[in-house]
Amino acid sequence: APAPACQAVTVLGATGSIGTSTLDVIARHPERYRVHALTAHRSREALLALCRRHRPAVAVLGDEADAAWLRARLAEAGLATEVGAGPEALVEVAEAPEVDAVMAAIVGAAGLLPTLAAVRAGKRVLLANKEALVMSGALFMEAVKRSGTTLLPIDSEHNAIYQCLPVEHRGGLARHGVTRLLLTASGGPFRGWSADRLARVTPEQACAHPNWSMGRKISVDSATLMNKGLELIEACWLFDAHPDQVQVVVHPQSVIHSMAAYSDGSVIAQLGNPDMRTPIAYGLAWPERIAAGVEPLDLFRVARLDFEAPDEVAFPCLRLAREAMAAGGTAPAVLNAANEVAVEAFLAGRLGFTGIADLVERVRDGRPVEAADDLETILEADARARHAAREWLARR
Ligand code: NAD
Ligand code: MG
Repeated sequence: APAPACQAVTVLGATGSIGTSTLDVIARHPERYRVHALTAHRSREALLALCRRHRPAVAVLGDEADAAWLRARLAEAGLATEVGAGPEALVEVAEAPEVDAVMAAIVGAAGLLPTLAAVRAGKRVLLANKEALVMSGALFMEAVKRSGTTLLPIDSEHNAIYQCLPVEHRGGLARHGVTRLLLTASGGPFRGWSADRLARVTPEQACAHPNWSMGRKISVDSATLMNKGLELIEACWLFDAHPDQVQVVVHPQSVIHSMAAYSDGSVIAQLGNPDMRTPIAYGLAWPERIAAGVEPLDLFRVARLDFEAPDEVAFPCLRLAREAMAAGGTAPAVLNAANEVAVEAFLAGRLGFTGIADLVERVRDGRPVEAADDLETILEADARARHAAREWLARR
């Protein structure tokens, strides 16, 4: 079908780092995009400001009390935005018939149901919420196939790989002569640190990423390399790759966003300044290109590109993620759930930095791996892993 003149977009997680970058790109192209719905969890003030600026038809908050507050403020401002609350309202704005595209930018497992709803409803899905795919990989990709929807990766590495692959890359990498995916990693703020120093890392240090400005959860994941582990799993599902075909390459400048290696020896890379508006604009406009407000890459200023192997001894999360992918079934959902609880505890000062990997491994070792054929099994594995992680934190 021909694309409608002006696309209606729902932004799930609008107040976050990806959400605000998405709205920045959208605002540059009012003739191409309009906002249908904006959602946030607790940040009602921030959502109010976004509603004033982008005038969505619908806004969604986590609970009814905040929704009532927002409704009153919007009425005072003379805005007709409808306000909903809770998980069902998120699903509604993800699958609403008037919506063309959904930016999935909620952090963590909370994004799974609305993102899946958007997939099933055949929306163009811009996937930033990697945890949703990690939890439910097989089921998620099956839903994509069944609805025939366009799934565009927003994670910068996967967006880069997508750009480095042939336009039609379904049916396995080998069919297209792709031998390896090279997933680049900045190495995080603690690259090269000893285990001793790592044990004393504070949340403030972990959230100060050298190249990217991001939400707190993904910042901690970047520092432990769990982010790269989740991305390895994400790459396997998105590109139908075996974990052995995905090589993690530490590249501290974050200028090459990832690469695809071909059987003839060619390696194709995508480069750019580390600014999420590039993959977001790519996802919004694909297969066209639009301006994103990103500064052009100045290679003389970059001057050099370095590469090294990741240190999986100091940063065990990468190994844990690879093992979870190899184990299959509910193992990635368990990994993700335990990690979410561990990161929360670390940010709250209740768990040391190196305790994150420890806790994830303990929970993993205490949980069986089950087949992950249906959503109920996945959500139950997620809930049990969270429970086990919290119990361990409380007992310790
Ligand atoms: P963030 O913390 O800045 O924003 C998260 C958003 O989700 C907020 O709008 C928040 O209100 C909402 N939210 C949080 N908990 C929720 C819940 N329980 N229910 C509903 N909404 C909830 O996070 P971010 O950095 O923008 O990351 C969002 C997602 O994008 C994550 O999955 C992250 O891994 C992925 N991602 C982010 C970046 C980046 O540069 N920030 C890059 C690649 C991928
Ligand atoms: Mg990434």
